[in-house]
Amino acid sequence: MVSLPVVGVLAVQGDFREHLAVLEGQGLHTRAVRRPAELEGLSGLVLPGGESTTIDKLTRIFGLREPLLQLLGSGVPVYGSCAGMIMLADRVVDTAPGQQTLGGLDVTVRRNAFGRQVDSFEVDLDFTGIEGGPVHAVFIRAPWVEKVGAGVEVLARTPEGHAVAVRQGNLLATSFHPEITGDHRVHSLFAAMVRTHVHSSGVSGPV
Ligand code: GLN
Repeated sequence: MVSLPVVGVLAVQGDFREHLAVLEGQGLHTRAVRRPAELEGLSGLVLPGGESTTIDKLTRIFGLREPLLQLLGSGVPVYGSCAGMIMLADRVVDTAPGQQTLGGLDVTVRRNAFGRQVDSFEVDLDFTGIEGGPVHAVFIRAPWVEKVGAGVEVLARTPEGHAVAVRQGNLLATSFHPEITGDHRVHSLFAAMVRTHVHSSGVSGPV
């Protein structure tokens, strides 16, 4: 039997529907993940934007934390956007009391770094590894990356110089929300990471 690679989107809170739609547009099979069993056999995972404190609480309540940590440890590509970037960060400045992240990405992220909801903004960014001109980026009460470890590449910065897109091996994170702009090149980069991972780990079938 041919097993078709599937990319999951954590669907406990936030704008997971938009990510599911964009990933399907990239020709990937998708699955909304709300239960531990739905993490089984995934070839990639997206942690969407939303509210990281709520996503953290709900993943623990739904018993998703341990299996998510296992999936992250297995080396499959994971993309975190905004609150998802916070969930991936090893260190966070300005957390809520008791807030935990999954970690994996050797960065320090400052939560709500650009200010409050009213300070949300849009800007065009040069993005290393993405061809075809600047990426239009929408920031909604977004974090920025304050420090990166040796294995982390900064892919994009704001005009002021704040790091807002990073990659460390199979982990990709952006402070902004490419799922709502109509420019799907960040998802296309992630889809390429998934396809490379699937081919190198020998999963058969069309991706
Ligand atoms: N400020 C939110 C948090 O701390 C992130 C906002 C977003 O994902 N758009 O999780």
